[in-house]
Amino acid sequence: MVSRVVFGRGSFNQLGDIIEPKRVNTTAPFIFLVDDVFKGNPLITSRLPLAYNDQLVFVSTKEEPKTSQVDEMVEQIILNHKDRPSGIIGIGGGTIMDLAKAVAIMLTNEGEAKDYQGWDIVKNAAIYHVGVPTISGTGAEVSRTTILTGPQRKLGINSDFTPFDQVILDPELTVGVPKEQWFYTGMDCFVHCIESLKGTYLNAFSQSYGEKALELCQEIFLEDTLSDEDSQDQLMMASWHGGMSIAYSQVGVAHAMSYGLGYLLGIKHGIGNCIVFEHLEEYYPEGVAMYKAMRKKHNIFIPQGICSNLGDDEFDIMIDVALSLEPLWENAIGKNWKQIITRDKLKALYQKM
Ligand code: NAD
Ligand code: ZN
Repeated sequence: MVSRVVFGRGSFNQLGDIIEPKRVNTTAPFIFLVDDVFKGNPLITSRLPLAYNDQLVFVSTKEEPKTSQVDEMVEQIILNHKDRPSGIIGIGGGTIMDLAKAVAIMLTNEGEAKDYQGWDIVKNAAIYHVGVPTISGTGAEVSRTTILTGPQRKLGINSDFTPFDQVILDPELTVGVPKEQWFYTGMDCFVHCIESLKGTYLNAFSQSYGEKALELCQEIFLEDTLSDEDSQDQLMMASWHGGMSIAYSQVGVAHAMSYGLGYLLGIKHGIGNCIVFEHLEEYYPEGVAMYKAMRKKHNIFIPQGICSNLGDDEFDIMIDVALSLEPLWENAIGKNWKQIITRDKLKALYQKM
């Protein structure tokens, strides 16, 4: 779990006070990884508590994080600074938060990021790392994974060293999120709830968080009762609870198939989940009906026909990626999932997207 968290509008102002005691010495910098959407935006840039050799790095989120990108960032940090950093501060959406977690891990573990994709391979504790979400839904602020695309697969570094040491939840930071992106990333949270609550791994711990997150999502995306501010606050908490729910269970069919789309076509996680979820009535009938009502209410565009020109080899790549995520299928379908989820079945589903 994340060991420390503050919540509240304006709590981002506390960042300086929070990290200062963690400064190892004046030559051990804090590295701020910030989504480049905030370049020149005083909401973030004028409030960063930079001191001594601290470094601000703007990172593009055009593409989702790659293992090679993590390795390059770690190399740059080692080359640019005499001392190992005091900490890594990630400010942005799931992309930036995952990069911050992965960089913090790879600064203390030998080899390349791709060597650590999987479950519990990381040996050494990461350096101090702080997450500040600026868009809500992924649960990356609370989870024990950092999802990376590597040379062979899209898979997380799942470990006890992955979670942030500190998270700052300031809903004010989400104010500029474009509407479509708000929906796609928000639906990531909704899908986490459905996949957790309908999964065979469900337990009382996951259920309590999943039910709360689902209730919040319904309020935010289906009812008209919340002010904009309340809606931002609630979605930030829904994201947290959705993340907590899957931390103790697992995701399911939508995530497995969305990873295939992400790996082959570079389709981003939130929109990828939406594209897949449109076609999953067979597995999550109530969840899909609710999702469609939300999509209609907010008049959101979901791309169609993205697989219409793909060849057999390409379908095979996506199917390989999806099937390699065995715990997701076991959670979704049960121990006998291999008899039910065939390559033909997945191909037929991908062909609909
Ligand atoms: P993202 O981080 O790519 O952000 C989406 C878009 O919103 C970007 O264009 C970004 O610049 C913009 N944005 C963010 N905050 C903004 C703001 N306040 N104002 C204006 N624009 C803003 O997308 P995401 O959906 O947050 O995250 C997706 C990533 O998270 C994927 O890489 C996925 O694999 C990962 N993920 C990780 C976990 C985990 O547990 N580690 C869980 C789910 C998803
Ligand atoms: Zn997700």
